[in-house]
Amino acid sequence: MPTLLSRKYDCIVIGSGHAGSCAALSAIDHGCTRVLIIDKCPEAWAGGNGFFSAGAHRTVHEGLADLLPLVENVPPALASRIDLEPYTAEQFTNDIMRLSGGRSDAPLVRTVVEGSRETIKWLRRNIGVPFTLSFNRQAYEVDGRHKFWGGMALSIRDAGKGLIAAHRAALERVGVETWFEAPAKELVVQDGAIAGVVVERDGKRECVHAAAVVLAAGGYESSASLRKLYLGEGWEHACVRGTPYNTGDGIFMAKAIGARLAGDWTGTHATCWDAHANKFTKSGYPLGIMVNRRGLRFVDEGADFRNFTYAAYGKAILRQPGGIAFQIFDARAETWLREEEYGDEVVKIRGNTIDELVQELVSHGLENVEAFMRTVAEYNDATRIFAAACPERKWNPTVKDGVATHGLSLPKSNWALPLEEAPLFAVTVTCGITFTFGGLAIDPDTASVIRDEGGKPIPGLYCAGEMVGGLWHDNYPGGSGLTAGAVFGRIAGREAGKRARPSD
Ligand SMILES: Cc1cc2nc3c(=O)[nH]c(=O)nc-3n(C[C@H](O)[C@H](O)[C@H](O)COP(=O)(O)OP(=O)(O)OC[C@H]3O[C@@H](n4cnc5c(N)ncnc54)[C@H](O)[C@@H]3O)c2cc1C
Repeated sequence: MPTLLSRKYDCIVIGSGHAGSCAALSAIDHGCTRVLIIDKCPEAWAGGNGFFSAGAHRTVHEGLADLLPLVENVPPALASRIDLEPYTAEQFTNDIMRLSGGRSDAPLVRTVVEGSRETIKWLRRNIGVPFTLSFNRQAYEVDGRHKFWGGMALSIRDAGKGLIAAHRAALERVGVETWFEAPAKELVVQDGAIAGVVVERDGKRECVHAAAVVLAAGGYESSASLRKLYLGEGWEHACVRGTPYNTGDGIFMAKAIGARLAGDWTGTHATCWDAHANKFTKSGYPLGIMVNRRGLRFVDEGADFRNFTYAAYGKAILRQPGGIAFQIFDARAETWLREEEYGDEVVKIRGNTIDELVQELVSHGLENVEAFMRTVAEYNDATRIFAAACPERKWNPTVKDGVATHGLSLPKSNWALPLEEAPLFAVTVTCGITFTFGGLAIDPDTASVIRDEGGKPIPGLYCAGEMVGGLWHDNYPGGSGLTAGAVFGRIAGREAGKRARPSD
């Protein structure tokens, strides 16, 4: 048994990521005076997946005028050249629900959607998160105007690094302590309520007391064995895009004291990931095609805006032979690709003609040249037949333009131009796992963890971020994870505040 120490806190937060940091700051806002964050990572890895994120936050908003006071990168002259439509609660809800096939837990979704705008304001005002408009990811410049698409507009200066820097500064300002290299090992329960956490430090186990504990320790995406167990054969080979420390500890610690598991345990967020450098997302595929080693396409690259398909297409790549695929673009598409994803650091396979390109692809693992040539020829023909039949359709990356292929059994539904302008180029992509969808059942109003037996909250135990089960199934609208983590983190901190009592 660990020694019971005299150390007591009002609230202990497990995990220093976005959700955990929001919970700690909200606990202080709501009357806690002694708040401790523990994280199993070294200090250099503070911030969990939040640090690796692009900082994209999806929120309900009323259009450009509503967002301008929150962002720091839009001088007035630029503002007059931006088109940014409102994004309503109904749209946000529908986007989550349609991507999950209606399986997302409606009360959880409602809490995220309805809390999103207020939480963004809190992040800006209370924490100083340096929000920006996401010109490079969520807008294209067309005819001199920046047109935003996909319902998502907010990012952060210096992305995830900027987000976590803002959190660390705010936590220091209000005196929240953080212990790094201090994994939570067990939850302590007394008389049916949470009483503290067993923490390992310097090889010793300590029991630290608190009447409120917030679990924000991420999913299990960094554990190869748990990926294989829950997501299936092959997932042990997926690349991990973020922190290596999210190995499901929080979920199983809670299960051990009777918490209910919830959500899509075979589901995960996984993207097209550069196969050569373990750091670049490759989300330009709506402007080109994706082909596997056998020379065959396997998804509708233009099914929807990138931020509604990217979280699902990593999974599709993992299922291809060797778990890789090639994204193919022509010179015209290349001008629209994002520098940070397809810039000079990236290994590019080039060819002035399709014959030249295919020879290069063979040396990168393409197995069936004939099938590849047929795929490209059929795709090009299908775009030209469509263009001849529908000349009124104009290619436009800022809307779902309906510029499609004609007659292919696997269509490309938007942005389908022939691959014809030299030079052509390709990149090799693999599956990069971002986070897992299975987690704990929580109360949507209080973020309390639900006990499996009886379905009632476990007093004093709250949960936020990736550990929450039931929000996402199959797929996910980009920018929702950070928002959901902040919304539930903030609620968890508020509830912890209600349990705060003199600790000495
Ligand atoms: C490359 C990448 C890009 C992304 N981009 C975006 C984006 O732009 N927009 C968006 O909405 N989402 C994005 N996401 C997802 C987003 O980062 C997550 O949804 C969000 O950060 C989850 O926050 P969290 O606090 O739940 O988990 P995390 O931020 O992962 O924090 C969990 C923390 O728990 C710690 N921990 C684990 N086990 C223990 C233990 N036993 N004891 C103590 N501590 C423990 C870990 O070390 C970690 O620091 C991205 C993710 C990645 C990987």
